[in-house]
Amino acid sequence: MQQLEMLETTDERRCCACKEVKHKDFFTKQRDRASGVHSKCKNCSRAYSREHYRRNKEAYLKRGDAYAKNSVKTKAKKAVHYALKIGKLIRQSCEKCGAVKTDAHHDDYAKPLEVRWLCRSHHIAWHAEFGEAPNACTVRHWTPPQEQIL
Ligand SMILES: [Zn+2]
Ligand SMILES: [Zn+2]
Ligand SMILES: [Zn+2]
Repeated sequence: MQQLEMLETTDERRCCACKEVKHKDFFTKQRDRASGVHSKCKNCSRAYSREHYRRNKEAYLKRGDAYAKNSVKTKAKKAVHYALKIGKLIRQSCEKCGAVKTDAHHDDYAKPLEVRWLCRSHHIAWHAEFGEAPNACTVRHWTPPQEQIL
């Protein structure tokens, strides 16, 4: 304790990570701390940030993958929209009940133009029974995290 007080009256600070005593210029300033600087020196802060990033990278990549799948779903819907517009696909009546107003439903989002035509209620019923079609993902509004800069 004695040593810590002594350090705080000088420009030297001890890093809580590497335990080295360094000039406070080697620490990130932090005004809400008694010592006026971050408890880790800049070197250790940077190492911590890198380690933190590395450990999160796997989760980060997985989420990126999910995000890509979500765009597959979006692409599939756009492909149908476009195919209908150019006449490559023709909207059909519901295969279950013959209703005229139908949605293009994908059994597999990786095959954008392989659709079945279902009215809204049969479409909802399909998903209630089978859940999400393969290759779809419901992750929305995901943006990659920014690497923390210390
Ligand atoms: Zn350090
Ligand atoms: Zn129907
Ligand atoms: Zn569907």
